[in-house]
Amino acid sequence: MIGHNIKSIRGREILDSKGYPTIEVELSTEAGVFVASVPSGTSTGKYEAKELRDGGDKYFGRGVQKAVQNIDQIIAPKLVGKNPQEQQEIDNLMIELDGTIDKSQLGANAILGVSVAVLKAGAGAENVPLWQWIAQIAKTKPVLPFPCLLYVEGGMHGRGDVDTQEFMVVIEDGSFKEQLRLGTETYHTLREILNKKFGKASTNVGLEGGFTPPVQETEDVLDLIMEALKKTGQKKAKIIIDAAASTFFRNGRYYFEGEDFNQQGLSDFYTKLCQKYPIIGIEDPFAEDDWVGFRGITQVLGQNINIIGDDVLATNLQRIEEAQKKGVCNALILKPNQAGTVSETIKAAKLALEHNWDVFVKHRSGETCDTFLADLAVGLGTGFLMAGAPNRGERVAKYNRVLRIEQEMQNI
Ligand code: PEP
Ligand code: MG
Repeated sequence: MIGHNIKSIRGREILDSKGYPTIEVELSTEAGVFVASVPSGTSTGKYEAKELRDGGDKYFGRGVQKAVQNIDQIIAPKLVGKNPQEQQEIDNLMIELDGTIDKSQLGANAILGVSVAVLKAGAGAENVPLWQWIAQIAKTKPVLPFPCLLYVEGGMHGRGDVDTQEFMVVIEDGSFKEQLRLGTETYHTLREILNKKFGKASTNVGLEGGFTPPVQETEDVLDLIMEALKKTGQKKAKIIIDAAASTFFRNGRYYFEGEDFNQQGLSDFYTKLCQKYPIIGIEDPFAEDDWVGFRGITQVLGQNINIIGDDVLATNLQRIEEAQKKGVCNALILKPNQAGTVSETIKAAKLALEHNWDVFVKHRSGETCDTFLADLAVGLGTGFLMAGAPNRGERVAKYNRVLRIEQEMQNI
């Protein structure tokens, strides 16, 4: 691979879609310049790899200059001259350089930015599309994902009217292109319905492009979505909700929709929802440390419904293994920045897929226009991509990347 070794790496502070700093990495080889940037969450789980933030006054303490310095002064000197196709070796080296369990020394934001730039350079050296390179190193079979389009946002992502954080729709009908069309038409139809019922301001959007109508109850939101699906004639549409339950859990109780639930009460609430609506998945139905709640609902609903672990699993190999042993969850949210390197992300996905878990590759509420996530979903053959609403450039960029990949795959 002479000529394709890493020549230079530099970091910089850019803005994410929420207007807060994040990391961009520029890596060069003879094959070209490879740029990667990292997202950042809002309803962040406590078991995620840790971003490094500067503190102080600038950007309210959220600057990433220290993480940039770590890239330029600590990571880059060790990586220049290395073969970018040695992804695992490079990721291991960065993990060693960091030396902490949660990547808090160098910053998971610094490490992931470099890791993804290296991955892109690896694909460049092979002269293949990124998704193909991912499949090659992961030894997986590429498959186009179902787009899980976000329609409505609440909780910490919306205006705070409804406690459930996300309402997503999957239309398992036809090609990716067709699914995206049907899902997007229904999204626009929902906009019309909301505008008629609640006025124009009701279709302002949240952090991920979902509408934020003045509706408090999860069931009422689901009824509105069902109305839109009926209007566009979608018979194969399914719904996934992200409760993000850690955000409404305090001292052993769930404060949700004006009530104060225990585990059983909340589990009964979800069970009723699943009986009434075509729900195929509930993400984070319980708080990240409530494994009893998770195991209970996996036993009750897990035969037919994906109990999807996000904050509870944090794309962390040990936690996924433990959850599989204990029957906690039966599906995985895969977020590269929770893990902090590409190699660990791939391992997490494979561990889940080997156990016949569905894997949902997912964006963060603070995103950039980097489309790596789309290639990751296709390359790993996970089957599902959650990249937000068909609205806001940083969300649409990922769906558009899959449209491009769909054509690329047809030409192979
Ligand atoms: C989520 O909880 O699934 C999510 C995408 O939110 P955030 O990025 O804010 O953690
Ligand atoms: Mg979530």
